[in-house]
Amino acid sequence: MNKTIYLDNAGTTKVDERVIKAMLPFFDVEYGNPSSLHLLGQSAKEKLEEAREIMANCINADSNEIYFTSGGSESDNWALMSAARFAKIKGKNHIISSAFEHHAVLHTLKKLEKEGFEVTYLPVYSQGIVKPDDLINAIRPDTFLVTIMFANNEIGTIQPIEEIGKICKEHNIIFHTDAVQAVGHLPIDVKKLNVDMLSISSHKFHGPKGVGALYCKHKTPIFPLIEGGTQENNKRAGTENLAGIYGMATALKIAVDELDKVMQKETMLRDKMINELSKIPHSILNGDAEKRLSNNVNMCFEGIEGESLLLLLADEGICASSGSACTSGSLDPSHVLLAIGRPHEVAHGSLRLTLSKYNTEEEIDKIVKAVPEIVGYLRKMSPVWDELQKGVRNHVI
Ligand SMILES: *Cc1c(COP(=O)(O)O)cnc(C)c1O
Repeated sequence: MNKTIYLDNAGTTKVDERVIKAMLPFFDVEYGNPSSLHLLGQSAKEKLEEAREIMANCINADSNEIYFTSGGSESDNWALMSAARFAKIKGKNHIISSAFEHHAVLHTLKKLEKEGFEVTYLPVYSQGIVKPDDLINAIRPDTFLVTIMFANNEIGTIQPIEEIGKICKEHNIIFHTDAVQAVGHLPIDVKKLNVDMLSISSHKFHGPKGVGALYCKHKTPIFPLIEGGTQENNKRAGTENLAGIYGMATALKIAVDELDKVMQKETMLRDKMINELSKIPHSILNGDAEKRLSNNVNMCFEGIEGESLLLLLADEGICASSGSACTSGSLDPSHVLLAIGRPHEVAHGSLRLTLSKYNTEEEIDKIVKAVPEIVGYLRKMSPVWDELQKGVRNHVI
């Protein structure tokens, strides 16, 4: 088999060697429980608080505003459920979100709707970006929470977070953002952005899986998630995953320190892919070309199935995705592509290529050669493409 080319970094990332090295002592040397009063325990406690401080510094938060969790999904669930419980006490009932959130947010909102909360889903238009004016118009006297993702995990579009934060602050509404795709990939300053709650996941920035954090601003109400010991300021009991937590903090520090360099390299490779793949007839880039993550390419090719494209790319050792890892295996087209107005048949022909600092120009040269060949091959066998050629069916893109 050819050497693997990994272009699914929005799905997960490789752990940085320096992170693995920083984690190892916690398994057999620094294995104390941070809650123990003896020497080993107190040393673990120091490392835990050091990790919290590092995480806080990376997003300009205070360290007691950082809660460690098991990942992005838990942080999202916790933030939303917590805000809703508090709102119920105050008799408030309305939440504003967007149509293309990650399922960790969307499914939590569905659960809250079943409990009687009302949710307004803002449109994201063809560019994949919410409009602040739509948010202002959607606000009601009983609106207590706005949850809008920082950057979309499928099409990489970056939302106007600072403007949204300002509007929420003016209206005294809690603002949560799922920043899982943004942390470690964009500069983030929670104070400047007026964010109240922000979700983080380690495995999206070359840290280990199964660990994340929730930033929760001082005075923002947060309900206890797990009962038991006094860990995480009495809000989430259970002995801390210290190796994971320290690994995450190390990974984020590296990502933030190297951000400019990595973004520059990724942008160059991303634009090369977009330029080359756009030469394929009847292809289209999904989401705004400018306001997008430096590592994200997402395109649709008319007349083919994304799944077939993925299988043939896999034969050449290329790991890509058709969209969200969570929807792979289901036949429904991506809710994100439908939200930006792609018709069902076009949404089925999608390809997501997401870069990391480890990708090389040589790899990208292989991709921009392989994709057009495979698309051409699949189109030759496609009855839909045949109909498009004969004019029985009209091109949409
Ligand atoms: C990956 C991802 C999540 C889920 O994070 P986990 O740590 O895998 O639970 C949530 N939101 C977004 C935008 C993501 O990309």
